Order: sequence, then C-alpha cells, then structure tokens
Amino acid sequence: MTVSIWRRSMSLGVQSCDVAVIGAGICGLSAAAELTRRGLRTIVIERQSVGAGASGRNAGFLMRGAADNYWAACEQYGRELARKVWRISEENLSMLRGAGLERLASYRATPSCLVALSAGEREQLERSEAMLRQDGFDVGVIGVGRGRTPQDSLWNGRVAKERSAIGLVNPNDACCNPVELVELLRAGCGCPILEGQEVFEINDAGSALSVRISDGVVNAGRVFIATNAYAGTLVPELAGIVAPRRGQMLAIRAEGRSLAMNYYANHGSEYFREGYEGTLVFGGCRAGFAAEEVGYEDRPTAGVQGAIERFACEVLGTSRADVVARWTGAMGFSPDGLPLVGRLAGAGWGDRVWFCGGFTGHGMSLAHRTAAMAVDEMLGGVATPFPLARVIGP
Ligand SMILES: Cc1cc2nc3c(=O)[nH]c(=O)nc-3n(C[C@H](O)[C@H](O)[C@H](O)COP(=O)(O)OP(=O)(O)OC[C@H]3O[C@@H](n4cnc5c(N)ncnc54)[C@H](O)[C@@H]3O)c2cc1C
Repeated sequence: MTVSIWRRSMSLGVQSCDVAVIGAGICGLSAAAELTRRGLRTIVIERQSVGAGASGRNAGFLMRGAADNYWAACEQYGRELARKVWRISEENLSMLRGAGLERLASYRATPSCLVALSAGEREQLERSEAMLRQDGFDVGVIGVGRGRTPQDSLWNGRVAKERSAIGLVNPNDACCNPVELVELLRAGCGCPILEGQEVFEINDAGSALSVRISDGVVNAGRVFIATNAYAGTLVPELAGIVAPRRGQMLAIRAEGRSLAMNYYANHGSEYFREGYEGTLVFGGCRAGFAAEEVGYEDRPTAGVQGAIERFACEVLGTSRADVVARWTGAMGFSPDGLPLVGRLAGAGWGDRVWFCGGFTGHGMSLAHRTAAMAVDEMLGGVATPFPLARVIGP
C-alpha cells in the first residue's frame, strides 16, 4: 500500500528492536516467543488485533498431518518428506502442550477421525494406516456409522448410508478454542505487540531495516513476516505464491449431542466437531465454489453456507439446522500444500527479511513448530524442510 503524507505525520515515534515480527497470529506469536527465548529484542506488529486473521477463526483441530491423508502425501511429496511433516505436526502439538495448551478451558484430548465417503478414499485410508504403522505412528481404523462408534449416533445419517465409510483415527490429537490458544501464545511471547498498526513498507536504512507502520517507524535488524494469506499485499513477489482462499464455517445448536472425535471427511473438504454450550461446528464445502472462494473478503456466502448446512443435516439425519453463528477466514494456500519458509529478496534487504506461512488450512497443526524452525534457520541454524526457494527461486 501507499502511505499518505497525513498518515506519515502521525507518530508513535521510532522504536528499535533486533527483530520485527509482522502478524500476530499463531505463526507470528510463536516466532516471537522463540526469538525472545533466544534473548533477541522483538516487537510484534499487527494491523488489527491479536488473532484477527485465520488464527482466531478456524475450526480448532490440532490434527496430525497436512491437507490430505498420509498415502496421498507420500505420493505427492515422497515418503521421507511426508514422514517429516507428520512428525512436525506431532511436535507442534507437544510443544503447544508444553506452552500450556492443556490448561485452556477449551482444551480437549479428542482423537481426530478422517472419514472416507467413497470407495477410492477408503482404499487410500487403508493404505495410509498400513504406511503410518510401518513408519512408527500410532493409528487406528474404525467402521463409522455401523455401531462401532456408539457415542456418535449422529453418524446414523449420511455415513451409515455409505457402505464404504471408514475412519482413520489419530488417537493422540486434540482440539481447542483457537482464540484461547492465541491468547495463550500472546501471554507467552514475552515482547511488546503493537496492535492496530499496519506495516506498509520495509526499507533498507543501512545498518537497520526501517519498517513503516501506521503511526510510526520500527527500526529492526531483521524482519520476520508472518502474514500468511495476506503475504502478497505487503510483498508483491509473494502475490502469486501464497494464494488467499476463503474458508467458511457455521455453528448449530445441537443440545445433548456429543461427538467422540473431531471429524475430517471427504479428503478434508468437510469437517466438524463439538463447539461449546451445546453446539456443533461444521466447515468446508469450498470444492463446488472454488472460483468465488478466493481473496480476503470476510463475507459468508449463501452458496457455501447452504452447502455446509445440507452436509450438517445429512450427518445429523435431520431436515433443518438451527444455525447460531456463521463466519469466514482467509487461508494462505501454497502451490504444493506445504508451508513456505525462506529469505525474501527485496531491494537492499540482503538476508534480513524472512517469510513463514502458506499453511494451506493447517496452521493450527503446523505453524507453532514451523515458526520456531524458521527462526532457527533465519539465525543461521538448521534449514526447515519447507524452503520458499522451491517455488520462488533462490
Ligand atoms: C475457516 C478456517 C478453518 C480452519 N481450520 C483449521 C483447523 O481446524 N486446523 C488447522 O490446523 N488449521 C485450520 N485453519 C488454518 C489456520 O487457521 C491457519 O493456517 C493459521 O491460523 C495461520 O496462522 P498465521 O499466523 O500464519 O496467519 P493469520 O492467523 O492469518 O495471521 C496473520 C496476521 O497478519 C496480520 N497482517 C496481515 N498483513 C499485515 C500487515 N501488512 N501489517 C501488520 N499485520 C498484518 C493479519 O491481521 C493477521 O492477524 C483454518 C482456517 C480457516 C480460515
């Protein structure tokens, strides 16, 4: 964005730090915690408020893995990289537990269940189970809707009709209210957070980088960009790399109905879990609306919301859903579905400006650990398995 002369005259003054982190979602707050742990003076800059992005709007699944099942990931990335991604997501959850996740009122140690709604997906999940076992992961497979998960009587609807329905279970997964998680990360980041301050420009100012924010300037030795879906609005070279994709959700009143697991169906296209105070939350159904579910606009649409409602009714075996909330969030999709970490080659930036994002709808599962790994690489440590250079060039 450009900056008017009027805006330039407002001032928080000039502040200095070793590292300026842009974006106060899971990624930025986790990076800030790692930076302060290493003794670096850090300032987080957030244009709205902590958790205003996808981090405060998601489904709260802390699920092992990436967008699709393990077999599909092995096919796409090769087995070694897929295994690493699954391990990173397990480390992500165990690091969050170490940071106090289990103390959150909303924390539930609830297994995840990937549900196949077609014969093809069933075969993939069965292969995934075998491969996960071979690779040392804890996993199970259940028949869904055929009396083997009695707690989940709501599966009497859609899934019971699908003879092919099975579920692959990640027994050690969890879920929480993501807003509570973000507040936990805020409390633990140990550095100032400038909310309501948008970053407009990052300029080379000799020994430091000059970060122009809404009402002032932050001089920083390095900049860590954690703006995920919004990456291309600040750094044009990321515009064609991190694609903003809208995700929509809704919550329905479902007093007395409980779920034994968090469900991720149809290759993750649809997902649902218990909410709170007698609600269930459902999301997804983007597939039929891919062309319009693009960009940053926070607007639930009749098409996707209707599709989610129909899915919810099928699952519940009812004709009507009593919707109590509808919302959207902007996800940052990478070209291959894996996160992106690396140096950005802006004018005069040298190796001082780094990006970490592109979580492709899985930042709860990956961003905390990935951000810490990205900080390590930025400071000269070990490279992450997610080099930005694979899509943007060195
Ligand atoms: C509907 C939905 C459901 C989801 N469900 C799940 C799930 O169950 N499990 C899971 O693992 N993942 C899920 N995700 C994905 C997950 O929410 C994201 O991957 C994750 O939150 C990304 O975190 P982040 O910190 O990288 O980005 P964000 O949380 O989007 O944070 C980026 C921040 O940068 C700020 N910002 C942007 N530009 C600027 C600027 N120029 N200056 C200052 N600040 C700026 C934004 O205001 C924002 O706060 C879901 C996403 C959506 C939308």
